[in-house]
Amino acid sequence: MSFKVIAIDGPAGSGKSTISRLVANKIGYVYVKTGEMFRSIAYAIIKANIDYTDVEAVKKLIQDIRLEFKFSKEKQFTILNGEDITAYLNSKEVSSIVSQVSSIKEVRDLVLVYEKEAAKYNNVVMEGRDIGTVVFPNADIKIFLNSSIETRAKRRYEQAVQEGKNVTYQEILDNIQKRDEIDKTKKYGALQVPTDAIIVNSDNLEIEQTVQKIVDIICGKI
Ligand code: C5P
Repeated sequence: MSFKVIAIDGPAGSGKSTISRLVANKIGYVYVKTGEMFRSIAYAIIKANIDYTDVEAVKKLIQDIRLEFKFSKEKQFTILNGEDITAYLNSKEVSSIVSQVSSIKEVRDLVLVYEKEAAKYNNVVMEGRDIGTVVFPNADIKIFLNSSIETRAKRRYEQAVQEGKNVTYQEILDNIQKRDEIDKTKKYGALQVPTDAIIVNSDNLEIEQTVQKIVDIICGKI
């Protein structure tokens, strides 16, 4: 039996995570957040005190670490060498290096193995940057979720405030701007709109409306 893949790609802060999780929940698919796979490697680099620009050291590190991902309709858990590191993956420190880390070819090759594995035994809603282009070019449905940089920064800021994080709107805007630039221009795994994707712009939509729009697209096609 082959399982279905719904690919949801889009830039940082487009609401992909919240929306993909809610969509997965509504249609009973497993939710896979590939950004956290890259974030877990960025976290491991910081923890090992390695310079992320030292590609040889990063290559050695990723051979030595043991990563496990546990998926569900609700949440994804990341275990690094037996320790649950899920709570640390969205820190400022990780966010500030993750795009550069994800530009390393060997890092992408490793994450590709985890991405393929996740969809082997489950119907998945998989979100990221290159799911519809590189990871699953034959995905059953491809959505590209977009919104303006100001909307994205505002949403991330409100979320950070709610979580009690000590961060300013400007810091978040700068981080998203920087990540957009790296994500669009990086040599491996650059953010691109898949040619056969349905583009959903969420600037003027509430979360629930965006979720419903995507669920309607899926239901009309599957
Ligand atoms: O989705 P999230 O913002 O958590 O992703 C963190 C970073 O991981 C992104 O800025 C991007 O550089 C990288 N990424 C990627 N390919 C993916 C998912 C994320 O390069 N499929």
